[in-house]
Amino acid sequence: MSGTTQLKEPETFATDQVVEFGVGIRRDAGRALADLGAERAIVLSTPNQSDMAMELAADLGGRAAGVFTKATMHTPVDVTEEAFAHARSVGADSVVSVGGGSTIGLGKALALRSDIAQVVIPTTYAGSEATPILGQTAGGVKTTLTDAKVLPEVILYDPELVVSLPRGMTVTSSLNAMAHAAEALYARERSAKSTGLAVEGLRAFVSGLPAVMADLSDLAAREATLRGAWACGTVLGQVGMALHHKLCHTLGGTFDLPHAQTHAIILPHAIHYNAAAVPKLLAPVSELLGGKAPGLALWDFAKGLDAPVALRDLGMPEEGIARAIEIALQKPYWNPREITAEGLQALLQDAWAGNAPGTTEIR
Ligand code: NAD
Repeated sequence: MSGTTQLKEPETFATDQVVEFGVGIRRDAGRALADLGAERAIVLSTPNQSDMAMELAADLGGRAAGVFTKATMHTPVDVTEEAFAHARSVGADSVVSVGGGSTIGLGKALALRSDIAQVVIPTTYAGSEATPILGQTAGGVKTTLTDAKVLPEVILYDPELVVSLPRGMTVTSSLNAMAHAAEALYARERSAKSTGLAVEGLRAFVSGLPAVMADLSDLAAREATLRGAWACGTVLGQVGMALHHKLCHTLGGTFDLPHAQTHAIILPHAIHYNAAAVPKLLAPVSELLGGKAPGLALWDFAKGLDAPVALRDLGMPEEGIARAIEIALQKPYWNPREITAEGLQALLQDAWAGNAPGTTEIR
């Protein structure tokens, strides 16, 4: 898959989303649909989460028009078209998306085509539910667009549904969310509001994640981290991202690497690289994590949670580093520090091998 992207200039959307948190709140999906005037919802999930989708459809009773359980990572257009045909054939006027970014992406893709109402029940921390951003894949090429139509109307955060997120995915998905907030701290369009939200999101994970790791079924800690996911996702929708996100996009697209794990590995390295240019803006990361330079603090945090640290462990070949640098430099984008081939070489060498950030010197 090529890593081509067409990111629009970031726009700030007024978020008039309805956002609710609570144990068992998923059972309010029918009420949320009724509030939206929706009568026939199609429930979306990945194949892995089809049981959850079936359970929700049963709960919705007459408001469930169908179930579609083929949501796939990176929102392939052929899957969207199949879901769209299914939604039309059952006369759906709404979707209930239960799952992570892949399922939510499918609901957004349907909304883009039909402006169908969306009630979203997130089961990871990726944050897609809080953004007007949609990434789609066609012919092996992923493109990203921003459109107010794809922002879900209602988010129901139910900690009970995140309990099943396995330990490894809990960590990588959290670091994925924290990456949105970390890059928001130095975003060009940042404001006091976006910075406040980013710090709030980071704090929720720094304080909540150790409790989740101690007991994956701790509902209070799961809810605290879901609040972090909301803050991090919301800020992702409000300001533009830079080196970290673009590099993950390139790596994910070029080497078909898993989304959350790639974010988890790159985060300390990208933040270390940019901290050299904007140390003050990244100071909240050090303050929240205990004093070290921001990239190293994130590295210690991730390692302490047994996060993956090496791209080679995800299956990226070492010779892929040169290819990634070439693609990453093809389309220049704004970043607080100039992005050079030498800088990327050192960063990617460390991320590939699993070294601490800054181990390889920039030549
Ligand atoms: P995902 O939705 O791809 O889920 C990964 C796997 O975990 C799936 O098999 C899923 O069924 C399973 N899973 C999810 N929640 C689970 C749970 N609670 N228990 C057990 N299994 C569970 O993973 P993701 O990281 O949430 O999403 C990645 C996708 O989201 C990527 O395509 C990424 O580009 C997109 N994304 C988009 C935005 C945006 O704003 N547009 C933001 C973040 C991520």
